[in-house]
Amino acid sequence: MTAGTAPSTRWPAIPKDLRGLAVRPNMVDYDASRAAFSWDEARHALAGLPDGGVNIAYEAVDRHAAGERAGHEALRFIRADGTARSLSYAELAEQTGRFAGVLHGLGIGRGERVFSLMGRSPELYVAVLGTLKNASVFCPLFSAFGPEPVRQRLHLGSGRALITTRALYRRKVAQIRDELPELEHVLLIDAEGLPDPGTLDLAELMRDAQPLETVSTRAEEMALLHFTSGTTGTPKGAIHVHDAVTAHHATGFFALDLHPDDVYWCTADPGWVTGTSYGVIAPLTHGVTTIVDEEEMDADRWYRILAEQHVTVWYTAPTALRMLMKAGADHAAGHDLSALRFVASVGEPLNPEVVVWGQEAFGQPVHDNWWQTETGGIMISNYPAMEIRPGSMGRPLPGVEAAIVARDPDGKAVLRNGEAVLVTEPEGVGELALRPGWPSMFRGYLHEDERYRRCFAGGWYLTGDLAKMDADGYFWFVGRGDDVIKSSGHLIGPFEVESSLMEHEAVAEAGVIGVPDPVAGEVVKAFVELRTGWQPSEALKLDIIGFARKRLGPAVAPRLLDFTDALPKTRSGKILRRLLKARELGLPEGDTSTIESPPGRYPGAPA
Ligand code: AMP
Repeated sequence: MTAGTAPSTRWPAIPKDLRGLAVRPNMVDYDASRAAFSWDEARHALAGLPDGGVNIAYEAVDRHAAGERAGHEALRFIRADGTARSLSYAELAEQTGRFAGVLHGLGIGRGERVFSLMGRSPELYVAVLGTLKNASVFCPLFSAFGPEPVRQRLHLGSGRALITTRALYRRKVAQIRDELPELEHVLLIDAEGLPDPGTLDLAELMRDAQPLETVSTRAEEMALLHFTSGTTGTPKGAIHVHDAVTAHHATGFFALDLHPDDVYWCTADPGWVTGTSYGVIAPLTHGVTTIVDEEEMDADRWYRILAEQHVTVWYTAPTALRMLMKAGADHAAGHDLSALRFVASVGEPLNPEVVVWGQEAFGQPVHDNWWQTETGGIMISNYPAMEIRPGSMGRPLPGVEAAIVARDPDGKAVLRNGEAVLVTEPEGVGELALRPGWPSMFRGYLHEDERYRRCFAGGWYLTGDLAKMDADGYFWFVGRGDDVIKSSGHLIGPFEVESSLMEHEAVAEAGVIGVPDPVAGEVVKAFVELRTGWQPSEALKLDIIGFARKRLGPAVAPRLLDFTDALPKTRSGKILRRLLKARELGLPEGDTSTIESPPGRYPGAPA
């Protein structure tokens, strides 16, 4: 399966006909909408605080709770047994006000960081919005992280409070708590009157709290902190501000085509940016009903939810769609999916096969879209009323200018007179770049100004992805421009994995790459050089993998591991992951003139 394939006769374009669409799309003419759009106008679609400030939670909850939609179902949680519980906009306003009151009562204030480590439970939604109401900053963590990634992020983000479950606290936080002096409060959502030592019972605090009115925040004030991974160094804390809600709302309108009566389901994990931008904020700003499945993915369960909850708009991910496709059409049989009018996907390359298979499974193609933690919201998308070219990410949103920037052999943007040189010939590959200025653009990496500045060159934000654009302005993903790994939609920094592996007593050095996987897109593979005195064995391999899983969690630890007696390195000692990958996949090795260790010594290298 290949993604990012150029338009071909193998995957002919899928035309769209307005007459075939059950609901008139929000955008019927792409070019006209782009021409008419401005971010200033988009801000008018929101209410704004009475004193001129902007607060995400006010746009998502308060303004609906104060109006006609107060009684409308905001969130519908589906429990393991399939039964549902709901919160209306009015109830959500009350609960989030209470949560803000809890934080206030604990002395947590403006700009201070509140972290979450949990699955999709009602408390999570209340915590995200309640934190924003209190003018504090919300930072979600992925619950499949092991103790080390959790510790590192809480430390980097100076987390003052953490909301989690008893089980996750015991497994991942209790043993690192001493290393986190700034973490004053741990709130358990399931303490049931008996919090662990050093933790608080959130339910009890909520009962006793005074609900707080949304605190006024400025548009440019920090609201969200999302950690993402780079090729080197520590994870990066991408800073987003309250004005991001303008982009969440506008992209919910254009790219997800949200209409007020929609029943919308976003399957993203709440630990990643999609879980916040499109799992919480965007749908609530549109006043729709959002389905939240409290369980993990299961093909039958998912088809049942789509059918029984009458989901109209579904936002999911390529890995999940590939799993459904693999499970087979039998699972879809017997489920009435006639309510479903729009299916979108994000996070990794979406194979043309899957786009087309959508027609068979859901009666419509899957609409791919592209964005990343730093962009805060969807930037490139396929729309209900625009022809789909299977394998393409679509075209830039109104208000978003995207281009392909030429790169030199070192991977740096080519500049001429201070301006980035654009690749203008159709199909020419370069780095996907965006013109800064959209409201959900990250405003910095926490405490890392230089790293932030390096993301911009010649008037563009450089995304780190390689892409091409066809003659009609459709963008096609080609690959990552760096060594970062995407596994089941999760971005994994090789450096973080290598560092953990090297803490194993037998490991001298490690190099980590992503290798293709038909379902997860990529899986993590490690190459390990052993310390003197250690011999490779199957038992040692399992021991090292087990060690990494315990520290990093199963989603991040390597699934595959090979021993090697010489990792390829540059003369300056940097591991050449690019070369490890080329050898693993039997691809051309490219320029090897900077290599320090002799090429080809590593076992398994193609002759
Ligand atoms: P994250 O910051 O974790 O959301 O990851 C963002 C990265 O995921 C992007 O820079 C891409 O490498 C990849 N990605 C996201 N959406 C797509 C897509 N539609 N097609 C291909 N890659 C994607």
